[in-house]
Amino acid sequence: MDEFAFINSIMPSQAQQPSLIKGIGDDAAVYKTSGQADQVVCVDTLVEGVHFRRDTLSPYQIGVKGLASNISDLAAMGATPAFYLVSIAVPESWNEKELREIYQGMEELAAEYRMDLIGGDTVSTPAALVLTITVIGQVERTKAKYRHDARAGDLVFLTGYVGSSAAGLELLLKRGRTGSFSEKELALVKAHQEPSPHVEQAGLFAGFAGRVALNDISDGVASEAYEIAEASGVSIVIGADSLPFHPGMDEHSFQQRLDWALYGGEDYVLLGAAAPADVKELKERFSARQLSFFEVGHIEEGEPGVFLRHNGQLKKLEKQGYNHF
Ligand code: ADP
Ligand code: MG
Repeated sequence: MDEFAFINSIMPSQAQQPSLIKGIGDDAAVYKTSGQADQVVCVDTLVEGVHFRRDTLSPYQIGVKGLASNISDLAAMGATPAFYLVSIAVPESWNEKELREIYQGMEELAAEYRMDLIGGDTVSTPAALVLTITVIGQVERTKAKYRHDARAGDLVFLTGYVGSSAAGLELLLKRGRTGSFSEKELALVKAHQEPSPHVEQAGLFAGFAGRVALNDISDGVASEAYEIAEASGVSIVIGADSLPFHPGMDEHSFQQRLDWALYGGEDYVLLGAAAPADVKELKERFSARQLSFFEVGHIEEGEPGVFLRHNGQLKKLEKQGYNHF
């Protein structure tokens, strides 16, 4: 059984609470409140040896990255972050100073978005460090963006470079985090270690009246596009030559850049789809804020699937990405 099949097998068949708008199946859950905003909540876990190694991320960066990946899931719903809770399982191999640094990383990122740490849990564990973060955000009532809203005829877009994090990881695995890097390489390394979630971009989507399907790039463009394709019941075509790459990747072969973008993940930019006229409008709004917005493909009717158009040929992509089982 893979991770996705397992999650499907534990999905409740019906909701008990009438306030629930979206439970399992998107980047975060959404439910109504009596106020002006809907609440958005999600949780994510980082495990030493699986999501990071001590020679690729400093304790401070583990904190930044852990919280950033959670904030990115809120951004993928169009939500604004507000609160977070932290559960940490600590093995003997970690000292108090390092733990404080993890918290400092979370705290500095949280301050950028005016988020409050409101609770958590501290336990010991025999083996690897486990950091579990829950984030809570909000979005104007009914304005949350979902994976299930893509339609045939839409254009597909990205809000930033893809593949940078995987390229940075490769450099880190070769040279370690104390190694020396050129300025271009350092940009890739930083993209891996201290990603910036697209919160401002999320606000633009939430404030946009038109229909927008949205997901964030945690597992790579192929896997995230599949999630939109499956949730919306559509087929997605991505143009290989349209994928935006950081100039620091220029020296690598096109195939290598493509592999990193499609299957690397952890870029935490947003992938979405909207009608062509709305994409034009969104592009202008992004440009007015000096934010990137790249058209990378389109949506067609058909069996849920993701296709890559490359050198005049159309190839069906694997729903590959990092699978934990
Ligand atoms: P993402 O990659 O956006 O973080 P995941 O692929 O981890 O999302 O999860 C997909 C969906 O399944 C989400 O709605 C998530 O909340 C839910 N989910 C994942 N694991 C579990 C679990 N063990 N129990 C309940 N729900 C889960
Ligand atoms: Mg996500």
